[in-house]
Amino acid sequence: MKLIRTGSEWNPHWLSHLQQNHQIGFVPTMGALHQGHLDLVQASRSKMRVTVVSIFVNPTQFNNPDDFAKYPNTLEADLEKLESMGVDYVFLPSVETMYPSSSNLTLDFGDLERVLEGRFRPGHFNGVGIIVSKLFHLIKPHIAFFGQKDLQQVAVIKRLVNNLSFDLQLEIVPTRREEDGLAMSSRNMRLDGNERQKALLLFNCLSNAKKQLIEGQVWPLIKSGVEKVFEKEENARLEYFELVHPDTFEIIETFDPNQKSSICVAAYIGEVRLIDNLPIIL
Ligand code: AMP
Repeated sequence: MKLIRTGSEWNPHWLSHLQQNHQIGFVPTMGALHQGHLDLVQASRSKMRVTVVSIFVNPTQFNNPDDFAKYPNTLEADLEKLESMGVDYVFLPSVETMYPSSSNLTLDFGDLERVLEGRFRPGHFNGVGIIVSKLFHLIKPHIAFFGQKDLQQVAVIKRLVNNLSFDLQLEIVPTRREEDGLAMSSRNMRLDGNERQKALLLFNCLSNAKKQLIEGQVWPLIKSGVEKVFEKEENARLEYFELVHPDTFEIIETFDPNQKSSICVAAYIGEVRLIDNLPIIL
């Protein structure tokens, strides 16, 4: 496994793989790797001749400086995991490499900016769009792998690839959960014992809501039920619980079994902001 820190270090490897007709898979991450990340790596390993994983905690996508400062860093363990999975290259750029000048380019993802993550994390998708564009330009993969866990990010990246004509495909990998249902996330490491228990509220509310929808209960009642559950909980604060179209992120008021839909949730458990989602109709 080779560690690469700049685009010019990567280019000769890229060229050599290109000349040998090797297909390159790319998995962008912010490190603190868990099995969810490793599922993406496995998807690339099983499909592609070459797998590149990047680890870069991107400052421009953090709208909350405290969240950035407290983002976990477990680089040594991450590299061991990637090595044991047979990853070919790990791209570990510095902030100076990724942001050589103080950039003032802004990407605006239109209606996606005004709902859910876009609304509650202003500037977040601008930072995601810029870093993912830079990484795509530097690595030049054939397929890039992303997790369904960040459903709205998937919609943003699809829009980015279409609008900016990136010559690559996207593959979306299902959400990996802990045994009790909590979606794996690097931020889970910041939860203490009580908070870890309370974090289950997200998945429990999602799965109860899905059951109720399928049984024919109306969405507004299901949603207000969840809001009441969170209101009663100490140390937990709901930001949103919405039924949306998973491609457009249009909010759905009336459930229609003939229309694609997913439920998305974001909530603070203590100081840690968690998100999750559950597909209802695919
Ligand atoms: P992050 O390091 O949080 O930026 O995540 C890197 C990639 O891993 C993104 O495409 C995420 O959607 C994906 N990912 C994070 N958590 C999970 C999970 N529990 N299951 C599947 N993919 C995930």
